Amino acid sequence: MRVAVLALMMFAGAASAEPYHLIPGAVPLDSGPDGNTVVLDAPQGLIVFDTGRHPEHSQAIIDYAKSRHRPIAAIVNSHWHLDHTTGNWDIRQAYPHVAVYASGALKGALETFLKDSRAQTDQMLADPKTPAMVRDQLLRGRAVIDHPERIAPNHVISHSGPMMIAGRQIDVHVAKLAATEADVWLYDAKSKTIIAGDLVVGLVPFMDTACAEGWSHALDRIAELPFTTLIPGHGDPMTRADFLQWRTAYDNFVDCGHSTRPTKECVEGWSRDAAKFIDAAHKDYAKGAAGYYLQTRLRSSPDEQQRYCRPLSVSTWHKAAA
Ligand SMILES: [Zn+2]
Repeated sequence: MRVAVLALMMFAGAASAEPYHLIPGAVPLDSGPDGNTVVLDAPQGLIVFDTGRHPEHSQAIIDYAKSRHRPIAAIVNSHWHLDHTTGNWDIRQAYPHVAVYASGALKGALETFLKDSRAQTDQMLADPKTPAMVRDQLLRGRAVIDHPERIAPNHVISHSGPMMIAGRQIDVHVAKLAATEADVWLYDAKSKTIIAGDLVVGLVPFMDTACAEGWSHALDRIAELPFTTLIPGHGDPMTRADFLQWRTAYDNFVDCGHSTRPTKECVEGWSRDAAKFIDAAHKDYAKGAAGYYLQTRLRSSPDEQQRYCRPLSVSTWHKAAA
């Protein structure tokens, strides 16, 4: 009897023994990826870092919380890309009091990048050749663009520093003008763990809204901390040595992109330098994406290259200039 009561108490209230719980995001070859989700324990419940794109991913987060008999008290989004934020809506419906923390970068994205994505979405939905599975994904993405309050933060993170989230103090960092206008990453000093979001992505840096130089600076800030484990936005956890190798691969790729060397050489360079982080099934995917980002970011017109090296929101921009 005493054992049973003790077991029950431990079950209901105990924090997890592991410093974090990873729910890996899938990177399918034929549809959009899900970002990794990292769950942390806090006095008021669970803190969920990134919520994925597909309903299966957000369901896995909710199932984990249920298995732990703890509510989801807070969401922290690394950035607004929909493979990290779409699940906010599912979690909000399951836990209506959840606090959502993110940078304010969604606002500018809605006026620019996401506005364009929405137009492309409508074009694809109008095309009868678009498969049903892709159609579902497009509708899900369009719904959160049309109702941004479903995924938007109710606590805006504007600067780096310690923050209390769900009753737990967390070392929060904001990288400005990096993978997006403002990327959030966390450092847990106790377990020496960095939760990096898409500032680190094993396969290839997803540079759709990147400022290449700002991103490189963000990697330098990460390197300054004495971490031993880093969880990237997609892919397996990394050691410190892994991260340093990945950072070198990133910097080499950007340098090559800004040089006059042939595109093929830059793509091959990335595949070689980042080989450790690219599994056999994703070799062509990583090459294709590296070629795409060379063309659209690193080797586009000077104006286009700088597009994401300044705030996106015109209203913020005018305010800053005034
Ligand atoms: Zn991502």
